[in-house]
Amino acid sequence: MIRIPLVAGNWKMNGTGDEALSLIDAILPELQEVQDVECVVCPPFTVLYIVSQRLSGSGIHTGAQNMFWEESGAYTGEVSPLMLKQMCKFVILGHSERRAIFGETDDTVNKRVLSALYHGLVPIICVGETLDEREGGMTDEVVQCQVRLALKDVDLKYSDEIIIAYEPVWAIGTGRSATAEGANAVIEGSIRTILKQELGNSISEATRILYGGSVKPDNAREFFIQSEIDGALVGGASLKAQDFVEIIRAARN
Ligand code: PEP
Repeated sequence: MIRIPLVAGNWKMNGTGDEALSLIDAILPELQEVQDVECVVCPPFTVLYIVSQRLSGSGIHTGAQNMFWEESGAYTGEVSPLMLKQMCKFVILGHSERRAIFGETDDTVNKRVLSALYHGLVPIICVGETLDEREGGMTDEVVQCQVRLALKDVDLKYSDEIIIAYEPVWAIGTGRSATAEGANAVIEGSIRTILKQELGNSISEATRILYGGSVKPDNAREFFIQSEIDGALVGGASLKAQDFVEIIRAARN
């Protein structure tokens, strides 16, 4: 089964308009020759439109970092799938920072996933265990539960539009990445197994599963050569043009 590698940069809450455009202008020429990796940049909502305009026709996609599930209405401060689909193809959902800081639950992640798929957005669904859960031997249980609940009631007709990002919480923004073999084992043993149970063997085999957590140019290749890792969700390093470009180059088959 050939799965096209995907590398997505999560800028988090970084980037004014000028900063966003200079970052895009620095990565764009470097990525012109990269054909065989799908590249996505996920800037904050405030610059999503200008970034999508700048990237238009380049083959590099944009993604949002979150969205609400309703289409419109009295939801002050929220952004809807109808607004996003005008300017991006992807949306990160269930990031551990959303779960830990903003109280998102498996249930609200599921509502977002169903809404994103319905509106033609590709969700990048983040799952991962905390350090306590890992040390308590609960990694498989936690990750499987997050995947199962995120995909509850998903219509199989959308199954080729789902991306999972395995992001151990203790590895995000800490400089402490999982071992490539360890991440591969969780993806193979937990995530593909639950995808197989929930959505069937062929969907499990076809679904792209990314690793995220302190991926940098010097460790990216180790992750990408693993059989079950199909790319990366990159936080800090996606804010440095050269680092992001090197990670994308490392993802080429
Ligand atoms: C992330 O924000 O999804 C992430 C993986 O961050 P970092 O690469 O900085 O650990």
